Amino acid sequence: MSAVFSNATLCELIRENTYSKTLQNVYQLQPQLNVMEKYWAAWYTYMNNDVLATGLMFFLLHEVMYFTRSLPWFIIDQIPYFRKWKIQPTKIPSAKEQWHCLKSVVLSHFLVEAIPIWTFHPMCEKLGISVQVPFPSLTTMCLEIGLFFFLEDMWHYWAHRLFHYGVFYKYIHKQHHRYAAPFGLSAEYAHPAETMSLGFGTVGMPILYVMYTGKLHLFTLCVWITLRLFQAVDSHSGYDFPWSLNKFLPFWAGAEHHDLHHHYFIGNYASSFRWWDFCLDTEAGPEAKAAREERMKLKAESNAKKNE
Ligand SMILES: [Zn+2]
Ligand SMILES: [Zn+2]
Repeated sequence: MSAVFSNATLCELIRENTYSKTLQNVYQLQPQLNVMEKYWAAWYTYMNNDVLATGLMFFLLHEVMYFTRSLPWFIIDQIPYFRKWKIQPTKIPSAKEQWHCLKSVVLSHFLVEAIPIWTFHPMCEKLGISVQVPFPSLTTMCLEIGLFFFLEDMWHYWAHRLFHYGVFYKYIHKQHHRYAAPFGLSAEYAHPAETMSLGFGTVGMPILYVMYTGKLHLFTLCVWITLRLFQAVDSHSGYDFPWSLNKFLPFWAGAEHHDLHHHYFIGNYASSFRWWDFCLDTEAGPEAKAAREERMKLKAESNAKKNE
């Protein structure tokens, strides 16, 4: 029996032996729900097993969103017209590199990420993450997702900075830096320990949030994870267009920010925003380095003058 409706007997009334028939019943008996809510309710009612319904949905969501978002970047890499917007234009990933990356990412999805995905629903139930229709209001969802972006970025900045120290880099993070010029698909090309710890920012922050507030909807989590996946793939795309988001939101990191991290190996540790690297003086690239050195020089000169 699913918990998708507050009234449990509704599930029995609506459930049919095919998904489309179940959906038809939802349309008839729950016309007040919006389209997305209808599809959601039909899925949980048809599956009749919330653990399986959530697990399968998250796994499919991850696979579909990750690969469909990576595909346009793969196509763009094949078209020379787009080279003028490539951040490192001479470094086009070879078919061999992309194939190696694809195999590794798929393997990691099945081995590393499949387990937490299958145990996710029991944890959601314990924490009070709701699957019920209707969904929360758009304003609530936007505010929560905005907060998750902020918290994930903060976690990512510090964890990623730590990954650039000695043994953490040598044994874990080095794998992700195999590609000095990243491409969309390489976003999740990483050591399992890195996937787990940086993934905490994406999944762990909403968990901390619901532990504190006691309220969160699973649909909000689905939207958040999709947007975070898009952000990760796009920041590895290697392309900075005049219409890229960072051109309209100057604090948005985008590909330009993360490409420099892969190119120079140091600096630009944050994922979504530029403020941590800006405020803590860890911006990457020759221009940021020159500005940093100039500031240090001026500081040393003024200290010397004070001591005269
Ligand atoms: Zn790194
Ligand atoms: Zn990266």
